[in-house]
Amino acid sequence: MTRIGAAVGGVNLAQGLPDFDPPREILDALPGILAGAQNHQYSYTWGSLEFRRAVAEKCARFNGMTVDPDNEVTITCGVSEALVDAVLALTEPGDEVVILEPWYENYLPACVLAGVRPRFVPLSEKDYALDLSRLAKAVTGKTRLLLLNTPGNPSGRVFSREELAEIARLCQRFGVIAVVDEIYEHIWYEGHRHVSLASLPGMEDRTVTVSGLGKTYAVTGWRVGWAVAAAPLTALIRKVHDYVTLCAPSPFQAAGCVALALPDSYYEDLRREYARRRTILLEALERSGLAFTPPEGSYYVMVDAKPLGWKDDWDFVNFLARKVGVLAVPGSSFYARRGGGKTRARVNFAKKEDTLREAARRLAARDLRRP
Ligand code: PMP
Repeated sequence: MTRIGAAVGGVNLAQGLPDFDPPREILDALPGILAGAQNHQYSYTWGSLEFRRAVAEKCARFNGMTVDPDNEVTITCGVSEALVDAVLALTEPGDEVVILEPWYENYLPACVLAGVRPRFVPLSEKDYALDLSRLAKAVTGKTRLLLLNTPGNPSGRVFSREELAEIARLCQRFGVIAVVDEIYEHIWYEGHRHVSLASLPGMEDRTVTVSGLGKTYAVTGWRVGWAVAAAPLTALIRKVHDYVTLCAPSPFQAAGCVALALPDSYYEDLRREYARRRTILLEALERSGLAFTPPEGSYYVMVDAKPLGWKDDWDFVNFLARKVGVLAVPGSSFYARRGGGKTRARVNFAKKEDTLREAARRLAARDLRRP
């Protein structure tokens, strides 16, 4: 969609990347980091000690987790790599991996690479509620991993402590390891709050928590993430990581130390800004007649174009791109089930106010009913 947008000149609400600058503090630190000769060579394969310490401190500060930087942290090339490393490291071909649907698009390919069988558990069509009894039915003696994402892309769900406690009980009962993608951990809205599954009793040894710099600090191109897990799991993840990418970019690990040291006010402002952007986009969507459930966290909205007569997501996003000038992701991209997401599309609001107002103007200027 980004490439189509380059051709037709649309406002890009498709790919989940910010169009605004990273925080001034980390931009200001970059020239000094790049001038330091030591920042241009390989770091330890599992990440520089300084950055692993910074990640461990951040886990204590925000996630209620006690983490040993020597044995429990692996720095990776983005959350994408951390997820694939975890699936490759912790499964054997033929194992089963439970995934909630809709899912972020690299979960299925990670399973394909590892030769494991994904078992999809649908969230509710209407508001992405988690049916715990349905989840319990999908978890069996063959299940090795449960792949979770909270705050969620594209669902916008932020799982509550109560939901996570049920998930924890299931993992413990069936000896399942949870791999939790927390890349949007700092982006949640009123009435919700991110909780790390690994902080729940009994989960510290059976959870791999993955997160990264990309979304929290608007630096998706830096390619820096991490996997935090108990030492026996980390030893396996580090082996895969070592032979897949060797190490994450050294200058951006150094800059990551600056990012993770930002004061609490940075995260409060981040949430306030995202809440404002969310309001602008949701008001525009409301006026356009599209159906949606307001996200509890992350920066995505799945819209349903069915009320406007659309039957096919690709037809709808093509119409949006070529006739309206707004880019969105076809909803079926997030489903394995045939027909899943078929009348939906995902838009995101990690954008400057001007960009969102322009998208709103374009949506208002055109009748969005299926011609
Ligand atoms: N997980 C989720 C849920 C995402 O939305 C994204 C990016 N859109 C990623 C992982 C990829 O993260 P990274 O850029 O750090 O590889």
